[in-house]
Order: sequence, then C-alpha cells, then structure tokens
Amino acid sequence: MVSSSEDEGMAEDLFGPEEVEAAAEKDDECADWTDDFIVSDEKKVDKDGGDDGDEADLTCAPCTTGRRPKTLKSPVRPSAEAVEEHYATHFPYRNWCAVCVKAKGVEDAHRRAKRYEQKEFDGELKIVGIDYNSIDEKAMSTSEELCKLKTMVIKDEATGVVFQHVAPKKGPSDEWLMKRVCRDIEELGHSDMILKTDGEPAIVAVQAEVQSRRKARTVPRNPPAYDPKSNGPIEKAVRDTAEHSRALKLGLEERLKGHVPIGAGIVEWILEHAAFLISKYSVGHDGMTPHERATGHKWHRPLVEIGEVVLAKLIGKRKYKGKKDKRKKKLAALSIEAIWTGQCARTGEHLVVIPGGDAFRCRTVRRVPVEERWNLEKVLQVKAVPRRPTVARGRERHWTEVRRRAGQALRAGRQALRAGREATEATSRTGPAR
Ligand SMILES: [Zn+2]
Repeated sequence: MVSSSEDEGMAEDLFGPEEVEAAAEKDDECADWTDDFIVSDEKKVDKDGGDDGDEADLTCAPCTTGRRPKTLKSPVRPSAEAVEEHYATHFPYRNWCAVCVKAKGVEDAHRRAKRYEQKEFDGELKIVGIDYNSIDEKAMSTSEELCKLKTMVIKDEATGVVFQHVAPKKGPSDEWLMKRVCRDIEELGHSDMILKTDGEPAIVAVQAEVQSRRKARTVPRNPPAYDPKSNGPIEKAVRDTAEHSRALKLGLEERLKGHVPIGAGIVEWILEHAAFLISKYSVGHDGMTPHERATGHKWHRPLVEIGEVVLAKLIGKRKYKGKKDKRKKKLAALSIEAIWTGQCARTGEHLVVIPGGDAFRCRTVRRVPVEERWNLEKVLQVKAVPRRPTVARGRERHWTEVRRRAGQALRAGRQALRAGREATEATSRTGPAR
C-alpha cells in the first residue's frame, strides 16, 4: 500500500491530478473486464458439466507421447577436504571414489545382519579362523604381469578383527609367520579358543603348530569343505582383505601417477595395512568397527596415506649419560624423510621406511606439502618389509650413518653461524659507523 500511494504521488507530480485519475479509472475498467472474463469462464465450465473442465487448467500436463528417462544416480563429488580424508582409508565405500569402485564394485547388499551380535558367542569359546589367500597382479590391478603373492589371513569371528601377512611359502616352517600368528592371537586377548581352518594339509599343519606354541587351550576345528556356510567368516575376510589391498594399491598408483609392481616392498606393507584399516575403520551393521567391538573404544590415532613422504621424528639411542646427555638429546630431535607404511595396532606408532633404508616405528610424523608428498622413485626404493625391517647393511651401521649426517648438519650450521658473526663483526669494524 505504501509503495502504491508513493507511486501515485510521484505520478501526480509528473502528470498532474486529472491525468492520474483518468488512468486510475482505466485500471478499474480493466479490473472489471478481467473479473467478467473469469466469471464467464466459470459459467462456461458449469454449463459444460465438467466434461471438458481440464481445458481451463493451464498448468503443463504430463505428455502422453514421451517417456521420462529413469537415469542412474550420478555420484556427487564432495569437497576436496572430504576426498583427502577418504583417501586415507577408503572407508566407507563411496561411489564417487574411482578407486573404491574399481577395487570393490558394488557393495554386497545381502549380508547377515546379526553376525557380530555378542550373545551368539557368550559362553562359547572364541573362534579364530585362518586361511591362505593368493593375490596375483590381475587381482591387484589391471596389468597382465602375473606374479603370485601368497598371504595368510587371520580373522577373529566374534569381533571381525583381521590380520594379513605375506606368506612366501605354505606350511609351519615359516618361523616369522608362525610368531606373527601367535602374536596376533595374543593381541586379540583370547585365552582358550577354537582355531578354525579348512582341510588343506598346509594350513592344518599351521593349525597344529600354533596349537603347540600356545599356552592356553587351542581347540582345532576343520569344517567339511563342502559346507560353504561353516567357513564363511574367514572366506569373507579373505575377500575383504584382497579387495581392500587392491583399493590401497590402486589409490597409491593414482597418487603416484605410475605403476607399482607387485614385487615392490611397499606392496607387502599395503597387504598388512589393508587388514589394519578393515579392523579400525570398517563399520558393520551394528554401527561398530571391529576395533570397537574388541576394545569398547574408538580408534583415535591420526594417520596419513600409505606410501606418502613424511618427516619422521627419530628417537635416537641414548648411549651417553650425564653431562653429554643434553647434547645427544638435541641431536636426537631430528626428523628424517621417510615413506609412511602403516601403523602399529598395539601402540598406535607410525611405521615408516627410509627409501633404500630401514623400517622403524616412531611416535610423531609430520606431513610435507602436497606437492612433495608423492614420489614414485622413493616409494619403489622401499626395500625393508615387515618380515625384514632392516636392510642388509644392518641396523647399527644405519644409526651410525644417521648420527654422522646429523653431526655434519650441526657442524655446517655452527660454521655458518660463525661465518655470519665474523662477517657482522668485520662490517661493524670497517663500516660507516666508525
Ligand atoms: Zn575410495
């Protein structure tokens, strides 16, 4: 109302009162005419008895000659930050992530919802399943090069915690693997338990070996091979770990913009890390991760992407005590460039490998700027693997090398400082101040 009266006021200023009145009358006439039209239209509809009533409806009716296409859902790519975050674990499965889609395809919709319900296991012995899995180059990527890699998968049925280790040869003669399997079971916290395998002779021998090594009671169980249901959980674990290993390898190759051969050292770390990520980040139908089921706590340790260049903070050996200790501590506070290869489930420490050097654990890593983060050459220089964390030249020589380099850097720094001080002294002596 205010605006219309203002308009009229303005119109009076421009045209004078008579002209405005005439225009207003014209408007009224128009209004009458429109009203008339509507009324007559309504009357017409009434007369027709409603049969052709839809003629008056001016909104667009659905066409009868065309068909609306039913298109597939288009994935929406989220913010760059969310993409970065997803790439660290590739959990949960995301349809906008090319790596997830390539590695896993469509998520399996038919699943037993109550698999992990705690009451199923109450009063019964905990079941741990073990099985061999072979991952070939075809399964890991699209390349033709076939180079088979055997792994052992261990799964705790009650919680869904999985482990995966490289197994170059089958059977109980692999001392490192036997120790690892026993340690994994120890980490699960079971005392008396059932160790389940299929009937393959090599894995049955491993079962017997683990049984003899454990102090607590280990009940062997070997369900018949023809019953697909009985060995389901471990078979699913084998599938899941293979899929996620593939996802991590594809993800790394995308980051590095190059091919990572299956024989590369980093692949062994990928296999271990895939199982770690499943245990810590895959959410089941009960809304919990295997880690949460096992411990009742959420996993909070920060992580980065496998294969990226990081600055790892070294913890030097404390050989010197007393007065020299202070100086040595200063040297120990040294970061070194390394490739991030995973995380220790027990301590939450980071596992890093110095390109061409050893693997070690450290509490603190720092990320480098994204432009320097991905380096194919350095990743392929990873020779230390979980089984052999120190390369041939030995750990002691490596630490000597690290200390030597640190000493060199310190001396160079002191020299530069001294040179700078001398230069300022020289200028203050000969400069314009005097
Ligand atoms: Zn993904």
